[in-house]
Amino acid sequence: LLDITDKKNTEEELREINKKLESALEEQKDLQRQKDDFLGIASHELKTPVTSLKAYTQVLQKILQKKGDLKEAEMMRKMDAQLNRLTNLIGDLLDVTKMNSGRIEFNSAHFDFDEMLRSVIEELQRTSEKHRIIEHLGEVGFVTADRERIGQVMTNLISNAIKYSPNHSEIKVSSEIREEEVLVCVEDKGIGIPQDKLQKVFEQFYRVSGQMQHTFPGLGLGLYISAEIIKREGGRLWVNSREGEGSTFCFTLPLKR
Ligand code: ADP
Repeated sequence: LLDITDKKNTEEELREINKKLESALEEQKDLQRQKDDFLGIASHELKTPVTSLKAYTQVLQKILQKKGDLKEAEMMRKMDAQLNRLTNLIGDLLDVTKMNSGRIEFNSAHFDFDEMLRSVIEELQRTSEKHRIIEHLGEVGFVTADRERIGQVMTNLISNAIKYSPNHSEIKVSSEIREEEVLVCVEDKGIGIPQDKLQKVFEQFYRVSGQMQHTFPGLGLGLYISAEIIKREGGRLWVNSREGEGSTFCFTLPLKR
């Protein structure tokens, strides 16, 4: 921007450039704020009708089932599953806007870590018949953190492992205590991540291109949110991966019993 060896650049000129830079930076921040505000309002407004749609489909599904209209009941179940996806996407958008504005709240409590892990795995195994989730769970016991938020991280990591690996492949979830920390890893034999993208996947809205986005739907927010949650809880989240071979996402949590 500025050649400091050029003697023609007087102090006055320097001040002028500085001012311009500051105002460009302010403008940039303002745009970011506007984007966050818009995302926050839009996702909040979307949430209400989707919640009510979900309630209606569930009632209708029960009525149809009782009447013996099983085909129609199955359609309602599928509709409900799609509404769940929508609810999760809206939830991610809301989380990101809360994180960006520092308004996200954490409810720390004492909870049974092993029970939480098992219930997340059970739920995901129930809805993903084409993958087998293998548990290598050690005894972690009780920890102090936001149970729901840690569950959200687990759901994100296992859902990604399922999404980015071929049908009938195995996903390994392991947990243990190592050096006064909880260590959890999710390993898949999927498409993997190129070495130069290993850090980028934790950025907001980032998705590795060339991975056939249509085949793998998503907004590119899950890992950003997960990394923020783990950071807030005092841990680390990282990935090891080889393209075409698979990925292993791991995180630690301090043992605050
Ligand atoms: P999304 O899956 O919605 O795109 P994420 O933030 O969860 O968003 O992930 C960001 C990107 O990281 C994904 O788009 C994908 O390119 C890559 N990625 C995440 N998990 C995996 C995985 N287990 N295997 C391969 N690529 C992954």
